[in-house]
Amino acid sequence: MSDLEDFNHVFADENNGSGFITENSGLINKEEQSQSRRAGFGWTSYHTLNEIYDWLDTLVAKYPGVVTSITGGRSYEGREIKGVKVSLRAGNPGVFIESGIHAREWITPAAVTYILNKLLTSEDPTIKDLAQSYDYYIFPSVNPDGYVFSHTTNRMWRKTRSRGNILCYGADPNRNWDFHWMVAGSSSNPCSDTYAGSSPASEIETQTLAAYITSVADKFDVYLSFHSYSQLLLFPYGHSQEKVSNYNELLSLGNEAAAALAKNNGTRYTVGNIYDAIYPASGGSMDWVRGTFNTPYTYTWELRDTGRYGFLLPAEQIIETAEETLNALVVILQHAKKNI
Ligand SMILES: [Zn+2]
Repeated sequence: MSDLEDFNHVFADENNGSGFITENSGLINKEEQSQSRRAGFGWTSYHTLNEIYDWLDTLVAKYPGVVTSITGGRSYEGREIKGVKVSLRAGNPGVFIESGIHAREWITPAAVTYILNKLLTSEDPTIKDLAQSYDYYIFPSVNPDGYVFSHTTNRMWRKTRSRGNILCYGADPNRNWDFHWMVAGSSSNPCSDTYAGSSPASEIETQTLAAYITSVADKFDVYLSFHSYSQLLLFPYGHSQEKVSNYNELLSLGNEAAAALAKNNGTRYTVGNIYDAIYPASGGSMDWVRGTFNTPYTYTWELRDTGRYGFLLPAEQIIETAEETLNALVVILQHAKKNI
């Protein structure tokens, strides 16, 4: 079971997974939130959008000339898609990282901010070398409206919060990209959790982030999209079994990365192209990037776990999850560095 599926059958009863507009399941954990405020920004609890954005601002202030603020677009409700660029050396190739496109997948901004912090603070020579070898374009929460809604109102919210339909809010922002849109694993029902939107890039988040990605597409060779859950490392495509030109390389590199990931805690990942490794699903961000720009190294992660906690992964697992993911990232980025 993974987030790429339509979860209506699992969640419809208790938490509005169908996307109907109701004020139910106020699942915000007030106690956890107040704890995180007391402790400052860290990785022992999940953070709100404002906490994440404020932390990004502190990095910009703390690392002048290295960390710069970037805007990947904006949301239906007018929020910024806020990110940072990390550049320790001029003339580096780039790595583009996005997480949180599905609102309820809280482990993804948590793990990505942890990795971002490591790139800036680690004394490990391997991590320092990677930090200096690439420019990083990092957007922890590319569906900010959904993320906020998952904190304030419905913990299981997945989609955007656009008001295109009288019955149901939002579209699935990872079915909305203009590459084989609505070909597979997408719904035309606005109340479905995998509703692809009324047209390709109907969502303002997709439009504006696509424009930003286009503006820097010649600057990055690695594109990483973070989701949860299922423990998968996926590469294009999702719309068909068509193999990308470096299919064998992405598969063997993915398997090497998964082996490195398993070293710390024995966490096992399955590696493959979306269509074969899980099921057909089109209109995702990674496939659009690969199909539009022919970016050589593109992966989509489905982080922990395999279903025991699912989207509700306990915060105690953030650091272990991020650490093991970073080990895998090292393998991918070292390989890319040699080959681009
Ligand atoms: Zn997802």
